[in-house]
Amino acid sequence: MLQDVHLAFKDNEVLKGISLSVQEGQSVTLIGPSGSGKSTLLRCINQLAKISSGKVFFDGQEITKSTDINQLRTRIGMVFQHFNLFPHMTVLGNVTEAPVQVLKLPAVQAREQAMELLRRVGLDDKSNAFPAQLSGGQKQRVAIARCLAMKPRVLLLDEITSALDPELVGEVLAVIRELAHQGMTMILVTHEMQFAKEVSDKVVFMDGGLIVEQGTPDEIFQNPKNQRLRKFLRAVI
Ligand code: ATP
Ligand code: MG
Repeated sequence: MLQDVHLAFKDNEVLKGISLSVQEGQSVTLIGPSGSGKSTLLRCINQLAKISSGKVFFDGQEITKSTDINQLRTRIGMVFQHFNLFPHMTVLGNVTEAPVQVLKLPAVQAREQAMELLRRVGLDDKSNAFPAQLSGGQKQRVAIARCLAMKPRVLLLDEITSALDPELVGEVLAVIRELAHQGMTMILVTHEMQFAKEVSDKVVFMDGGLIVEQGTPDEIFQNPKNQRLRKFLRAVI
């Protein structure tokens, strides 16, 4: 998926040659210290950040060459730490907006699909509420439903629980866990190591703009080889 990707902000090289492959149905977790380039890597994949060199592939196509970014973004869903829901729309409105406007789905069908997705994230009883009336965990689950409404091929999730109160983290992780089990392709950044251990097919440790080590959760958490990874794990677990 990524081949020798470099990216610099002015003269600050933030990604220093990243190669990473993600198979369909896999869930891949990025871990690493603050500033190591995790968010930037995610942003390269949906072209929110422009790479300086290297290649990014999606569905066998080199997307760094193709120009239709909007079309690409309908297939790559991204959820951020801060939910960015449309505040003036109801929950239902938030989830139906893009399918109707972008995919031109008939309103009735979009509503049906949205209600089904809201059921999946446990919020069908909140369809008429406005974002301001929801808890952080509920907002984040709406954000996930909104993303899924576009039927993305892959989900990018950047620390989606880190702005939440601890007691609300579990309900959001439960939704992600369910998606992982259903075979959704996901790349996620998380500081929840226990969760990473549980849902990931592959864990990738980044430091200083490089992938320092990658492997199965067992390899990374039970038997880390790299010194920097060991130090990181000692500090966070
Ligand atoms: P965190 O765990 O704190 O979210 P991260 O691993 O996601 O960290 P990035 O956000 O990818 O790190 O940032 C990597 C580096 O790139 C940092 O040094 C940051 O200052 C720099 N950086 C990120 N975005 C920009 C930008 N838009 N302009 C300039 N520098 C940036
Ligand atoms: Mg980040």
